[in-house]
Amino acid sequence: MRTLVTGGAGFIGSHLSERLLAEGNDVICLDNFFTGSKENIKHLMDNLNFELVRHDIIEPILLEVDRIYHFACPASPIHYQYNPVKTIKTSVMGTINMLGLAKRVKSRIMQASTSEIYGDPKVHPQKEDYWGNVNPIGIRSCYDEGKRVAETLMMDYHRQNNVDIKIVRIFNTYGPRMAFNDGRVVSNFILQALKGENITVYGRGNQTRSFQYVSDLVDGVIRMMDVDDFIGPVNLGNPYEFTIYELASKIIELTGSSSKIIHKSLPEDDPTQRKPFIGLAREKLEWEPVVKLEDGLRQTIEYFDKRL
Ligand code: NAD
Ligand code: UDP
Repeated sequence: MRTLVTGGAGFIGSHLSERLLAEGNDVICLDNFFTGSKENIKHLMDNLNFELVRHDIIEPILLEVDRIYHFACPASPIHYQYNPVKTIKTSVMGTINMLGLAKRVKSRIMQASTSEIYGDPKVHPQKEDYWGNVNPIGIRSCYDEGKRVAETLMMDYHRQNNVDIKIVRIFNTYGPRMAFNDGRVVSNFILQALKGENITVYGRGNQTRSFQYVSDLVDGVIRMMDVDDFIGPVNLGNPYEFTIYELASKIIELTGSSSKIIHKSLPEDDPTQRKPFIGLAREKLEWEPVVKLEDGLRQTIEYFDKRL
């Protein structure tokens, strides 16, 4: 297959590109390097089936491809709030451009959506038929509402133009190649622990998340792309839920760090709980995460330790 991975130089996109190449596909990686880096894909550069294009998806592009994995969008709150107007343009104009391309060349297209479309959920765990509880005017809206519109665009291009679409709702994902400066909780805590700095738990730390290791996600994404007659949306996440305080303690234990936990103020609109219901992914994709939190954290700690 000739595949296009938008955001291919980012954390998830680079792992996905690696896997697609290993399975014998051609990969065009398209990225504007806002949060991604050449470092993430430098080990793929010598592969003749890999091409890198520097391009911003808010501008149209013409390429001949069979499949589009549309992953370009900053994902960490610090990065997507840095230029919120650009973030929403990336989700709206970028997705229109990619859908236009898919329509023109008749390729299958997958949207990397997010658990953030459920906002601060009133239903727990979150199932695909839950419509969410999103603040439309808050500081997370540029990301959350952008991704919600992207899902709407996918569905409308499907209904109106018969575009072959897929929607995956990705829950918190971690692993090697998360950006050092992206401020997400796993990378922050690991770096703080390795450097012996205070571990910054926002709020009391009793908010929950469910983290999946990146290889599990990539496996689910590929299964979803390959399956016929199922467009989603489908949740991809690890249902193992824990508090942020527990995560801090686990990382201190695994790194053997002398760091102390301190508390900082909770960011605005920070969701209090999040856990995927993955019955649909189990049924339609025969998928469920297999990497245990402790094993995934060890690999991620090793990566950050080497990079430091
Ligand atoms: P990331 O920031 O590491 O990767 C995003 C990539 O997109 C980067 O390489 C960046 O340079 C590129 N990009 C951003 N704006 C662009 C633009 N306008 N034109 C071209 N390229 C652009 O983030 P990630 O964690 O790898 O996330 C990848 C995708 O998965 C995103 O769409 C994100 O919303 C989604 N997602 C991620 C998570 C997670 O926990 N990591 C959870 C839910 C959804
Ligand atoms: N968080 C924290 N300390 C940090 C970074 C994040 O306590 O140094 C918290 C944050 O408030 C949130 C959770 O960890 O409750 C997950 O944050 P992240 O930014 O990784 O993802 P998201 O909020 O988008 O799920």
